[in-house]
Amino acid sequence: MSHIPHLINGERVAGTGRTADVFNPSTGEVIHQVALADRATMQQAIDAAKAAFPDWRKTPPAKRAQVMFRFKQLLEEHEGAIAKLISEEHGKTLEDATGELKRGIENVEFACGAPQILKGEYSRNVGPNIDAWSDLQPIGVVAGITPFNFPAMVPLWMYPLAIVCGNCFILKPSERDPSSTLYIAGLLLEAGLPKGVMSVVHGDKEAVDALIAAPEVKALSFVGSTPIAEYIYSEGTKRGKRVQALGGAKNHAVLMPDADLDNAVSALMGAAYGSCGERCMAISVAVCVGDQIADALVQKITPQIHELKIGAGTSCGLDMGPLVTAAAKDKVAGYIDAGVAAGAELVVDGRGLSVSGNENGYFLGGTLFDRVTPEMTIYSDEIFGPVLCIVRVNSLEDAMQLINDHEYGNGTCIFTRDGESARLFCDEIEVGMVGVNVPLPVPVSYHSFGGWKRSLFGDLHAYGPDGVRFYTRKKAITQRWPQRASHEAAQFAFPSNG
Ligand code: NAD
Repeated sequence: MSHIPHLINGERVAGTGRTADVFNPSTGEVIHQVALADRATMQQAIDAAKAAFPDWRKTPPAKRAQVMFRFKQLLEEHEGAIAKLISEEHGKTLEDATGELKRGIENVEFACGAPQILKGEYSRNVGPNIDAWSDLQPIGVVAGITPFNFPAMVPLWMYPLAIVCGNCFILKPSERDPSSTLYIAGLLLEAGLPKGVMSVVHGDKEAVDALIAAPEVKALSFVGSTPIAEYIYSEGTKRGKRVQALGGAKNHAVLMPDADLDNAVSALMGAAYGSCGERCMAISVAVCVGDQIADALVQKITPQIHELKIGAGTSCGLDMGPLVTAAAKDKVAGYIDAGVAAGAELVVDGRGLSVSGNENGYFLGGTLFDRVTPEMTIYSDEIFGPVLCIVRVNSLEDAMQLINDHEYGNGTCIFTRDGESARLFCDEIEVGMVGVNVPLPVPVSYHSFGGWKRSLFGDLHAYGPDGVRFYTRKKAITQRWPQRASHEAAQFAFPSNG
């Protein structure tokens, strides 16, 4: 069993205080212990970031981008090793871990465009001999707090962009699967990032509270569950910080009577059961418009759920691995119990699954409920497991009302062949990311990612153009060079071109 240290100011720091066990969820064994930072350890990273900032903010954006070009190359060269680390601690399949890394690398590619991204706007002759321009300046020391379910991709949503914008970054990754995150940060240093510009500090609430309390930390990006997002948003903004806090989700897929059912079923299988349902964009509710499409869906999807290939995350060719912890498994199983007790029809029961050779792993099979109604907790709560609920409604309007009434608004999609229905849905649905015949509408890196309602606290979405706005401050400069011989009298009326 090895100890996972912090990475502060370019050095591995063991930490002296508390530690947490890191499990292999496929076997149930403790494989590492990760350091949990106290306030003093976090302060070391903050001090290093503060000291690195004056030089880094003056480093030309093109030079900052060169680090990202090298970083991208290293990430690609180390893809196999990173995917293995993700699978070992998270439990997701190797193919899924590789997919997450590739989506993360897209954010590094976007950051490589720093000179273009940061060039601002210029206007000549806004008045007599007056020119004006706007500048995008870095904020200073900024921090990110990330969840277990994407240990590579979600941190990569944040720090490549924050860093090319000229900021210094402190990452507090999830303590449940920190190895891949730390490994990737090591590659960034190898790519030539100056020490102190980025540190990785592991920890739990104590470490997060140290970031919130530190006046040197000017902005916080958070991704995780809604209660913690709300806490960080309110505590951070109270202290005058810029905060972007992405929270939980309950994502609905609407199946119209004219949907291409075979393709919709394939899409739902991947979106509901991929990564064991531990994705903030996972589809957990299928809203069927009419009994006919609902009956057809149940008939087609049931055998496919029984045939899911489930096993240790680090094996190849599987559909699903285990849940991340024993507690996560128990929580999801508890929701299945609650669904049965509330009267939903349990079509496929994933409880009691045993994987041969991995009997102590945290496995649950794919689960399907039909005739779920809005007051049931399996409908209202984010389960974050391999559970798909079917809700039957009579019309598209009813489906949209159901979705709009839900407290979360992260992602949604509609399966239809009818443009008019799709257009109405895109226009009026109160959800931040919408797919038309696309089950996981995660925006590409040059757009931005974010939900509505209680899925996001803050004004700006993550990465892409909104990420640039979040990690920079705008400065508007107006400059005048009067002609030498001219004498100018004082003007008391407000200056204008009128
Ligand atoms: P979590 O909220 O438990 O943890 C997220 C981070 O917060 C971790 O770094 C953790 O150490 C820290 N944390 C935990 N408890 C804390 C506390 N009391 N005070 C301060 N910090 C604390 O989330 P998780 O279980 O790691 O991740 C799953 C959740 O994240 C789901 O709800 C999922 O929907 C959400 N998520 C959302 C998005 C999105 O983009 N909206 C993306 C990925 C995950």
